[in-house]
Amino acid sequence: MIRAAIWLATEVGEGKTFTKQQLRDAFPGVEQIDRRMRDLRPYGWVIHDYKQNDNLKPNELQLVKIGARVWIPEERAQNQVSTISARVRAEAFARDNHQCTRCGIAAGEPFDENPAVVARLTAAHIYPGMHSEGEVSVDEVVTACQICNEPLRQHTANYLNGEQVWEKIKDLGVADKQKLRQWIELGRRPQSQLDRIWAQYRQLPGVEREDVLARLRKLLD
Ligand SMILES: [Zn+2]
Repeated sequence: MIRAAIWLATEVGEGKTFTKQQLRDAFPGVEQIDRRMRDLRPYGWVIHDYKQNDNLKPNELQLVKIGARVWIPEERAQNQVSTISARVRAEAFARDNHQCTRCGIAAGEPFDENPAVVARLTAAHIYPGMHSEGEVSVDEVVTACQICNEPLRQHTANYLNGEQVWEKIKDLGVADKQKLRQWIELGRRPQSQLDRIWAQYRQLPGVEREDVLARLRKLLD
């Protein structure tokens, strides 16, 4: 699968077409190379055949999108999100109250650092790089926003150090300091009823959100 990915990325290129024969010729003696290539789909690789693209001949394929760089072990590990079934994902989102378990953002909320981008929830493996083959169970995943679940984030993100975080903590009021201490000791940020309702509201379709807002305004005005 990794060799197929490298061949597609370097020899074919995104958006380009290739034939099944070219693929087989590139990997002489490799059985079921087309199946190995299909194994790339869970990693975000999009490869179309004539059924998805009318312009293709039956022996042609198109590399629509190059996905995760599976030849890098960390990326391979972190991008196996689609081995998580839709059902497991939905269960994880519901259990985690439709909020990122790492930064607390709810689906559809804009990021403080970049208000043009809104949070999208993903199911993240609790232990990247350690997942088993086949379907992942709900106990092995947590809800994370697309930023917190970004591949290689830990290598690229610009985190503050302990001293810098402590400087910020020192400036908090006593009540906030107490609250923070509680969160740290618990190992998570407990959600208030209001937090939960906010997250549940964010899950509503647009029309229903408008309806809820209209009712709340009517009640308060
Ligand atoms: Zn997050």
